[in-house]
Amino acid sequence: MKRSALLVVDNVDKRYGAEFPPAVSHLSFSLEEGEILALLGPSGSGKTTALRLIAGFEKPDSGAIVLKGVPVAGNGSWLPPEARKVGMVFQDYALFPHLTLLDNVAFGLSGSRKDRERKALEVLAKVGMDRLASRYPHELSGGQQQRVALARALAPEPWLILLDEPFSNLDADMRADMRREVEKVLRESNMSAVLVTHDQEEAFVLADRVGVLNNGSLEQLAAPEVLYHTPATRFVADFVGEADFLPGEVQDGIVTELGVLEHRCGLPRGTRVEIMIRPDDVDFEPDDEGNGIVAGRKFRGSENRYALRLPSGARVRSSQASTRVVATGTRVKVRVKLDHIVLFPVS
Ligand code: ADP
Ligand code: MG
Repeated sequence: MKRSALLVVDNVDKRYGAEFPPAVSHLSFSLEEGEILALLGPSGSGKTTALRLIAGFEKPDSGAIVLKGVPVAGNGSWLPPEARKVGMVFQDYALFPHLTLLDNVAFGLSGSRKDRERKALEVLAKVGMDRLASRYPHELSGGQQQRVALARALAPEPWLILLDEPFSNLDADMRADMRREVEKVLRESNMSAVLVTHDQEEAFVLADRVGVLNNGSLEQLAAPEVLYHTPATRFVADFVGEADFLPGEVQDGIVTELGVLEHRCGLPRGTRVEIMIRPDDVDFEPDDEGNGIVAGRKFRGSENRYALRLPSGARVRSSQASTRVVATGTRVKVRVKLDHIVLFPVS
């Protein structure tokens, strides 16, 4: 069954003042029903602004936003946040401190008190918090507060849930559990969601597709595997996963200091390029005649991450088994094993 677009963001621009650069520029994407999309980018890249535009807390300077076929912003239309059927989960949870969990979740619901409480309890049960319904937010851990915040956003049965860095206030070990739980709740209710985060792993494990934001612009929007293996820009290559960039020149293939890589890129001979190399693309063997030197090793538990220095002074990283130890200073033969080549012309 073909899913239909639930949310369309069409060429949206937003500046906070003429003296500032755009916080979001030419932002376009659409979200299908039941899809979880992550917007990934460093601090200041426009993630929160994008969510606030979708929620209706900000007005676009130009462009349009359409929710379930209804224009909500742009081209003369405007629907305020409370009329948008969008639920929001904030980084700091933003629960009402003076209300019980039950009342926090019942707050945005309509109907008789009894109906609202029944519904609130039902949604609290979904996130495993119904037994604590009479508690107050300060009596909860961060993870528990986050569950309640999610329940509060889900209770009015919105069309779309927006999550702004929802796990960034949690401890690392808690974060992975919460990610799984939040995803489970969203998937079970077939809820559509836009999550924004600066954490690549979070975006990758939770989202169907990930959009990478840089200075307010969406540089690429694709499935995690596509972003990782075929980044469209150097920024995406660098921000998503670890990458080294090896200088090369287009001839018959690409000439680099690690040999000639077979590749037809259609660029004219003589074009200078950079080849993206991931640590798992690089292998080495001790060799007295080798072209590299082990410059360092970091033990990361599941792997050893080596830094290898090449004759030009360039460094590439190599991911090796956690049991493979080669001493720093060892001369080695460095090999790249790329099954496809990602390159960027040097301007
Ligand atoms: P992110 O959530 O990715 O960190 P934001 O959307 O918060 O990014 O911010 C994007 C850019 O807009 C930043 O340069 C930020 O300083 C600026 N900005 C955000 N909110 C305001 C505001 N209310 N007034 C002026 N500038 C703002
Ligand atoms: Mg933000």
